[in-house]
Amino acid sequence: MTQAVESVRNYVAGKWQDSAASEHTRVWNPATGEQLGTVPVSPASEVDAAVQAAAKALPGWRRVPAGDRVDFLFRLRDSLKKNFEDLARTVTIECGKTLAESRGELQRAIENVEVACGTPSLIQGYNSEDIASGIDEIMIRQPVGVCAIIAPFNFPAMIPFWFLPYAIACGNTVVLKPSERVPLTMQKVFALLDAIGLPPGVVNMVNGGRATVEALLDHPGVRAVSFVGSSAAARLVYSRAAATGKRVQCQGGAKNPVVILPDADFVTASDIVADSAFGCAGQRCLAASVAIAVGDAANPFTEAIAQRAASRVTGFGLDDGVQMGPVIAPDSKARVEALVAKAVSSGASLVVDGRNPNIPNYASGSFVRPTVLKDLPFASEITRTEIFGPVLSVHHVNTIDDAIAFVNSGEYGNMACLFTSNGSSARKFRYEAEVGNVGINVGVAAPMAFFPFSGSRGSFFGDLHAQGRDAIEFFTQEKVAVERWPKDWSRKF
Ligand code: NAD
Repeated sequence: MTQAVESVRNYVAGKWQDSAASEHTRVWNPATGEQLGTVPVSPASEVDAAVQAAAKALPGWRRVPAGDRVDFLFRLRDSLKKNFEDLARTVTIECGKTLAESRGELQRAIENVEVACGTPSLIQGYNSEDIASGIDEIMIRQPVGVCAIIAPFNFPAMIPFWFLPYAIACGNTVVLKPSERVPLTMQKVFALLDAIGLPPGVVNMVNGGRATVEALLDHPGVRAVSFVGSSAAARLVYSRAAATGKRVQCQGGAKNPVVILPDADFVTASDIVADSAFGCAGQRCLAASVAIAVGDAANPFTEAIAQRAASRVTGFGLDDGVQMGPVIAPDSKARVEALVAKAVSSGASLVVDGRNPNIPNYASGSFVRPTVLKDLPFASEITRTEIFGPVLSVHHVNTIDDAIAFVNSGEYGNMACLFTSNGSSARKFRYEAEVGNVGINVGVAAPMAFFPFSGSRGSFFGDLHAQGRDAIEFFTQEKVAVERWPKDWSRKF
């Protein structure tokens, strides 16, 4: 059945609006190649209207007690649960991941709403009595103002929720810009936000790409920017937003190594690494893409991972039994396959070749099957570049120190994992790996909503991360008051 093509709309001041943009981009189902929608590249004037609406709503919203603000989040949580399957299917249709993966991401989104429901406690400040005779000092947390949220394509439901529930629970108002490649999930989420009765202007959404983001970054009315995307864009967003005095948090790209020690259980390790490298078609910022086998681990691990790569069922994520979907678009498929071809021409051996697969009934989909390479130098492009596809290169070193030296030598610092049965090796790795998220016998070390989603070096720009207490700190301005209330004003101070 052919899907109707949807015109994506903006949501400003509590109303749906058709953009007057002169330029539009298209949304595709990456498995079938069918067009799903058109997205406006909202111009600066529409960004301005959204920021103005958010600014207008701010004074009233910040005065709503935190306990009443989170009432809206309790309603939102119920509504997300009621609409769970519809939202999960939308994620699969526009983003390509399997239905189980979409359900998983939606569950993570809901968990962030639940953590933000604790804002009345989390937002508390602290105080000291008698810092000098008769003088008290208190620290209170106040909202920052209008906050912009800019999201990537690979988690259309979850990533906006790393920020939005915390921002509004802390008394801020929001302008969200979803990824122009997967805007349909947020069309549905905003319909739910609309129905929970938030005051107009508390949440707003503008659609578009780079130009729309730049209008947000340059807008003097935006006080804070939360960004998730590639490191190249994260760097630009960080410096441009900071140049106008905004507070900024930018989560960037990744190149995640997993290290397998000879004392690891290879069956478990290869199952877990296969899920990390090939799950979501490798399009996770926590996807393993370099496996470093230490000592005698090399042969058994390579054999086990090759078997799992070759047997992974690839297809349209809504079909039963499918374990991996397509990459997001034809240009991504071409990029991934070109990187593999380049590696092979520079001497790599193809253990499993997933290029140009035949996926019955989905000839127009952007499919790349799991691919495993070996015999590559550490300095090669595919070992250093974020691939964002289901490709794993396997390397061999002699010691855990060699492996950690490789982990710490890359540009990125999002995640690194170790597989071992030795506690002392695990501790050494956790201590020495210069990354934001560490996994021990875990292949996707995704922090729960009550922990920061960390990242370091070229994977993160800023100081406070997404989720949990970091989000509360990011979305509040600390104010310190020093107070004297003498009984006797005639006394000399
Ligand atoms: P992207 O950088 O192309 O786009 C992200 C967002 O930024 C989109 O909304 C896009 O419209 C906008 N954008 C793109 N280029 C821009 C520019 N030059 N200036 C301003 N805005 C710009 O990223 P993507 O392809 O949508 O997402 C995949 C990337 O996101 C990967 O690199 C992945 O590792 C990263 N990611 C990181 C995390 C993390 O927590 N570190 C999480 C998810 C995804």
